[in-house]
Amino acid sequence: MSAMHAELAEVLHRLPDEQRQRAASRDFWAGHWHGHEVVAVLSRIGKVAAATTATALIERFGVTHIVFTGVAGGLADGVRVGDVVLATSFLQHDMDASPLFPRHEVPLYGRERFDTDGTLTSRLRDACAQVLATPSETLGAVAIAEFRLNAPRVHPGLIVSGDRFVATSAESHALRQRLPDALAVEMEGAAVAQVCHDYGIPLAALRTISDRADDSAHVDFTRFIDAVASRYSVATLDQFFRLL
Ligand code: SAH
Repeated sequence: MSAMHAELAEVLHRLPDEQRQRAASRDFWAGHWHGHEVVAVLSRIGKVAAATTATALIERFGVTHIVFTGVAGGLADGVRVGDVVLATSFLQHDMDASPLFPRHEVPLYGRERFDTDGTLTSRLRDACAQVLATPSETLGAVAIAEFRLNAPRVHPGLIVSGDRFVATSAESHALRQRLPDALAVEMEGAAVAQVCHDYGIPLAALRTISDRADDSAHVDFTRFIDAVASRYSVATLDQFFRLL
């Protein structure tokens, strides 16, 4: 599952034999990656859209595992533009049924966090570490200089999701106060994690940091996705399927 068009386009370049199939008003691309059967799809933006996409993948295409890639805003100190966050768990930062339920708890689940799968995540982490060890091979020297990427790092931990593009310093500050262990913020992951929890499907999710969720979060967003994030994701997935 890709959160961005540019990323999906790069993924489709790697599949030698993909066939388009329509379901839930979406295009799904069934094919092979290094011999493994895969279905590639755009998640679409926001929690409901991503949940529908994940449900269709499971119900209509019978997928057994989901790997999600995209971009996110960095929240924690030291999570810089060009770094990668690997989700160990997800939380919906805009879920609030208080005072009926504690803030962030998903009603009737008795929990606020949904974990990703340890084994799948550690495989994705190995693949990502290999790509980030030599970023110039994936990105080229021009993009590295343009975005001043310096020794990109992988951070495992909590990613929070909500139906808001967080683009003010005040909002990101408030999120950090409320959820001090959140590494990054995006708009889909927690929804996919909840669907995977319901179906017992292992999930791994990787997000390249495109912004710091602050007043300049929108700057160079598109160019960054094309020149950096999509390339990291697809190089990581390529390595992931090669090692699988
Ligand atoms: N114009 C973009 C979409 C922007 S919406 C496009 O080409 O499709 C933002 C997307 O990036 C969402 O998928 C969200 O998950 C992620 N994202 C990146 N930075 C974010 C931030 N600061 N706050 C919320 N979501 C963010």
